[in-house]
Amino acid sequence: MDIKVPRGTQDILPTETGKWQIVEDLIRETCRMYQYKEIRTPIFEHTELFTRSVGDTTDIVQKEMYTFQDRGDRSLTLRPEGTASVVRSYVEHKMFGYPDQPVKLYYMGPMFRYERQQAGRYRQFVQFGIEAIGSADPAIDAEVISLAMSVYQKAGLKQIKLVINSLGDTESRVSHKEALVNHFAPHIDEFCSDCQNRLQKNPLRILDCKVDREHSLMKTAPSLTDYLNEESAAYFAKVKEYLSVLNIPFEVDPNLVRGLDYYNHTAFEIMSVAEGFGAITTLAGGGRYNGLVEVLGGPSSPGIGFAMSIERLLLAVEAEKNTWADNSSLDVYVIGMGEAAKKKVVELVYELRQNNITADQDFLDRKIKTQMKSADRLKAKFVLVIGDDELEKQSAMLKDLSTGNQQLVPFSTLTEQVKNSISTWVEAEK
Ligand code: ATP
Ligand code: MG
Repeated sequence: MDIKVPRGTQDILPTETGKWQIVEDLIRETCRMYQYKEIRTPIFEHTELFTRSVGDTTDIVQKEMYTFQDRGDRSLTLRPEGTASVVRSYVEHKMFGYPDQPVKLYYMGPMFRYERQQAGRYRQFVQFGIEAIGSADPAIDAEVISLAMSVYQKAGLKQIKLVINSLGDTESRVSHKEALVNHFAPHIDEFCSDCQNRLQKNPLRILDCKVDREHSLMKTAPSLTDYLNEESAAYFAKVKEYLSVLNIPFEVDPNLVRGLDYYNHTAFEIMSVAEGFGAITTLAGGGRYNGLVEVLGGPSSPGIGFAMSIERLLLAVEAEKNTWADNSSLDVYVIGMGEAAKKKVVELVYELRQNNITADQDFLDRKIKTQMKSADRLKAKFVLVIGDDELEKQSAMLKDLSTGNQQLVPFSTLTEQVKNSISTWVEAEK
């Protein structure tokens, strides 16, 4: 059979899933600390949700969506990002009426984008993201940013950089838009066809173009910062102030524009500055989207969030040459010799597991020596051996693989004894 995984997807093998689980756990734990609650939405949505909220001039909507007709002739799309679904759900379930505001949510799951595969860019990838909806307090902008930074810190990353910008409010954006059109229009024929389309529809997106990024007009483009009205500038100043209170260093990049159309005020990205990380250095991106809830039919509710992929987080950890603690562990490997002993092994392994002791056994009738090798490879703390002698004495030989010490333990107290031995073993490791 020559069927392989589809391009842009990958199998995460048993040797790798340990790291994934560590990251997933630290993410869930961080969200618990910050009081963000998990939300799980469908993997596919009505296509219109994304064209309306992500925006039809974005790369996502123009070239990256997996869209299909279902058998009922509905246009559905595999979700390319999480914010649209979360906001849809927020409106559908009237979360704006929840007594506790803002509503703080997180999600973690696969996203799908038809992209050219390269390191750190896949067609199916896992995003973790948060959304805080219902507050326009700049302190929550700082909280959202600090949660992302905290996840990276807990993953052991040191070489990361936070870049922020303000896109201002609608008024600021309108005057900036005018300035952008005046800036690019005379030379727009030197730009890619996407940018030519963007000029009238959404000139801000020209600044985010990956094709024309080196064009000289990019560097001289009017900066949003110069067009912020008083209110927007004051908001941005507050966000920066709170970040300073949290001791989170940041850089301001006036050309930082986020991929989605509905961003305003705060926009930010977190990048890896580790040597050898490769071309794609952005680990996470986020920003404020006041107005999005209204676009999706809810009452005016300001929101802010970010998203990061686990794949890029793991690549960054690798680039910093950090290693993960081994979270696989086996307490006891149970070995039996002979037909009668086998029955006891099956019974014992089950009993140990019922008592929250990780246990395993042989299923291939291998020699005792080979089974001992398995126990070593599986990094078992203890081995239990049951042969004819032991059976007769209704006991098993309990062997500590780190010291080689062994003792005969009666079946009746075996679970207790194994538990005690594990505690002693764990104490000694400390
Ligand atoms: P890029 O500029 O790299 O295409 P983006 O602006 O499309 O990023 P967002 O939509 O903001 O990315 O997604 C947030 C985060 O999700 C990114 O910072 C990155 O960590 C991750 N991400 C986005 N696309 C992919 C992908 N195809 N494969 C893996 N991770 C991705
Ligand atoms: Mg992209």
